[in-house]
Amino acid sequence: MSENITSTDEHKQQMQEQQQQVRAKIAQAKTRRGIIIYLYGNGKGKSSSAFGTLIRSIGHGKRGAVVQFIKGKWKTGEQAIFRQLGVEHLVMGTGFTWDTQDREQDIAAAEAVWNQAAPLFRDPAYDLIVLDEITYMFKYGYLSIAAVSEVLQARPAQQNVMITGRDPIPELLEIADTISEVKEIRHAFNHGIKAQKGIEY
Ligand code: ATP
Ligand code: MG
Repeated sequence: MSENITSTDEHKQQMQEQQQQVRAKIAQAKTRRGIIIYLYGNGKGKSSSAFGTLIRSIGHGKRGAVVQFIKGKWKTGEQAIFRQLGVEHLVMGTGFTWDTQDREQDIAAAEAVWNQAAPLFRDPAYDLIVLDEITYMFKYGYLSIAAVSEVLQARPAQQNVMITGRDPIPELLEIADTISEVKEIRHAFNHGIKAQKGIEY
């Protein structure tokens, strides 16, 4: 038998210690409030994680909203489901900035969707709001991070927000409660594999 394999008694003792540590941590978490979750990075899985969380939330009878920046020209699978689930869905709808190539039009579209979204952050009926791909708006200077941050911080106490986008925006890193970096290890597209319906969009 290898030295790494613990005996049944040792295993039991280790698990009991671990259980005590976990229970102590659970006992320490006493605050109940909504959080900001920020998912950034160059790997695949940010938006789909946000939508997965939204599905989880709706499964518990909670109310959700999705605000999508950049995207909008493709018919995504999630858009159809949002409609079916009664999720409020706001879309900038201009497509990628490298396709529009029109700064003024992009700024007007960004401001228009943000003006529609801002009231959601004053409405306690919304339990989870996803701001998908909003980091591009700050990167290109289409929206003011200070103004958005102020609205987010003044939101109802129990409201949760999920923010996705590739860039680590310092002001968002400062106000987020949970932050994950999704790092590309490999992506099929970079090996010549076409984007698939139901997987990428
Ligand atoms: P998903 O929506 O699949 O969760 P994401 O939100 O993490 O992806 P984005 O940066 O928003 O990623 O990119 C959106 C699209 O680009 C998705 O179709 C995704 O599969 C694809 N994509 C994500 N990361 C990469 C990458 N590293 N290389 C090529 N394509 C990528
Ligand atoms: Mg995304």
